[in-house]
Amino acid sequence: MLDFATYQQNATTTAIYPQRGEGNFTYPALGLAGETGEVCEKLKKAIRDDGGIITLDRRVMLAKELGDVLWYLSALCTELGLSLEAVAAENLEKLAARKKTGNIQGSGDLR
Ligand SMILES: [Mg+2]
Repeated sequence: MLDFATYQQNATTTAIYPQRGEGNFTYPALGLAGETGEVCEKLKKAIRDDGGIITLDRRVMLAKELGDVLWYLSALCTELGLSLEAVAAENLEKLAARKKTGNIQGSGDLR
């Protein structure tokens, strides 16, 4: 089992970019957007080429791209001095609180 803290620590060892570890949030933020785009592109092609069915090959490719998304998310957290594990835990807590108060739908960051 791989926890987010271990993932973030290990991902840092494969990070190679300018001003890495010096608060360079721009590089991982751009990477995160790029990799998210790659995920969306593969989903778009599933709609275009396969009637929206996610084939086994495409699922494998999507898993790799989602891994890239996770890597850049982790790197962004690192550059911002955030714990990926804490971000994940706080997100679950936020959503659970919204569900409890019936505010899971709708919009607004501070529901
Ligand atoms: Mg990729």
